[in-house]
Amino acid sequence: MNYDIKFNDTIRRQILRQLRLLESASSVEKDDDAILRKASKIKLLGAIGAASGLPAMPQVKELADAKLLAGCDPSVLSQGMFTPLRSAEGRLLLAVANPWDYRADEFSNAHFADHEIFKVVTLASEISATIERSTQSSGPSRAELEALEVDGGGNDVRDFDVTRIHNEPISQLVASMVSDAIKRHASDIHIKTEKSQFFYSFRVDGDLGPKIEIPMKLKDRLDAFLLNLMRLAPEDRSKRPGMSGRFTASYYGRSVGIRFERHRSYRGYHITMRLLDKTHLEPRLGMGTLAFDELTLFELEKALAVPSGIIVMSGPTGSGKSTTLNAMLRELNRPEDNILTLENPVEDEIPGVTHCDLRDSSEFKPMISSFMRSDPDVIFIGEVRDRESAELAIEAAITGHKVLTTIHTPRASQIIERFQQLGIERWKIAQTLKAACAQRLVKLLCQNCRVPCDGVGEREMRLFNLDTEWAGRKLYAHRKEGCDECGGRGYLGRAALLEILPITPRTGDALAKGDLTPYELELAIRKETSLPSLRDNGLRMLAEGKTDLDALRRVLDLTYLE
Ligand SMILES: [Zn+2]
Repeated sequence: MNYDIKFNDTIRRQILRQLRLLESASSVEKDDDAILRKASKIKLLGAIGAASGLPAMPQVKELADAKLLAGCDPSVLSQGMFTPLRSAEGRLLLAVANPWDYRADEFSNAHFADHEIFKVVTLASEISATIERSTQSSGPSRAELEALEVDGGGNDVRDFDVTRIHNEPISQLVASMVSDAIKRHASDIHIKTEKSQFFYSFRVDGDLGPKIEIPMKLKDRLDAFLLNLMRLAPEDRSKRPGMSGRFTASYYGRSVGIRFERHRSYRGYHITMRLLDKTHLEPRLGMGTLAFDELTLFELEKALAVPSGIIVMSGPTGSGKSTTLNAMLRELNRPEDNILTLENPVEDEIPGVTHCDLRDSSEFKPMISSFMRSDPDVIFIGEVRDRESAELAIEAAITGHKVLTTIHTPRASQIIERFQQLGIERWKIAQTLKAACAQRLVKLLCQNCRVPCDGVGEREMRLFNLDTEWAGRKLYAHRKEGCDECGGRGYLGRAALLEILPITPRTGDALAKGDLTPYELELAIRKETSLPSLRDNGLRMLAEGKTDLDALRRVLDLTYLE
């Protein structure tokens, strides 16, 4: 069931009955599981409302009265997945995600006994968002940290609750650091030691944010706490230059995986914590961040429909390659197919897909060999990085499987050259490669504070080979000081730019014979199909006022012209 809350069988049956009523007559013969799986969250919410007799409201957070919420314990609310919204004249409006959970009633009986209670049912994500909004970051004050006695130790925990109040200041520091990062949708937290500064900062939408200072004397204490969280022995610190680990943060009752990387630096250490927050994932092709143009989307879907062969996604680290591949896996995900993945780490667990994590590179070959004997239909290999992984990926495709993978190259056509460099014969590549894709993530202008500007300047036009009509275009640029909406950044969110080179049997043939270089092949395909390149897609977003030249030139080499 595509919903954040688990219901027991009796309630499930009631919801299902309502869903069937909502569905058209043609779908009556569908089995229960299919109906539950296919229903959107909004439709499920409607069915839950009808089954419980409560009005269903998909959005409630705008209704919430901040003052009222400030008086409630957020952990009580998030455990029971409910929230009071507002009260007036002896009445209380209460939103619940699970109408059958007694905790909302228990709470209102205890705190609003003299009120008449009106309940509405809403999505669990709305409840979380409402609670999140009402809570202020509650990190320890600088004075509290300065007053700390410095000694070793820390708690023995692996699941770390970052939204509860911790008594110990170091735990509270880490808890508020991590919960702030999750709240701001950061992808990474960096903790760095420099000569006279010890600080952390968040990476949001690809950019590192301002430094938040920590007293220098807490350097070792914080380090010990984090190593302890990962069950890594502090004595290893001096022996090993780099250390990796994982832990899980519990954020208002939901789990967020955190991958930890620490290396020694001249003045101490540098820690990077990558947040694997699944609630902002679940991307779909053609929607949100992955809203590609129609032509590109069509070619992508065509490549996915080919029964066997390899689809490769390229781009630098942080270009969202695996997000797009995960969305492709979601498209391919059918109960009749056996889908296996080998990733490091597993970023986005998809129900119905068997995810495997690669613990170290020596496991690669035995895992893929075992996959091949495990009757697979689709294999997703996190990354092709060396000769061995390239050979295994191609081999899996030659033997009739659908293979999805990523590789590091700037442009789609260079994927072919990269495979050749890794020792794969050209005919094998030509025979198996179905689509070569390249992707970048470009920052989107905050629509609330973007500033209109008149065309592109003379120098930039020459630098980026733009024709003269760009001089007169109405464009937008980001506002340097931003606004409240975008947290002072001028940008809000990112969108993926994708270029795809579909390899048809005919182009594959020309490639195998060596008639064309990969670059010539790219030009030929573009001419024939008029598929947009990364550059075309980027300039289209610029013209549409969705991004600016500043953001674009950071992720794209605009100086070349095809
Ligand atoms: Zn703004």
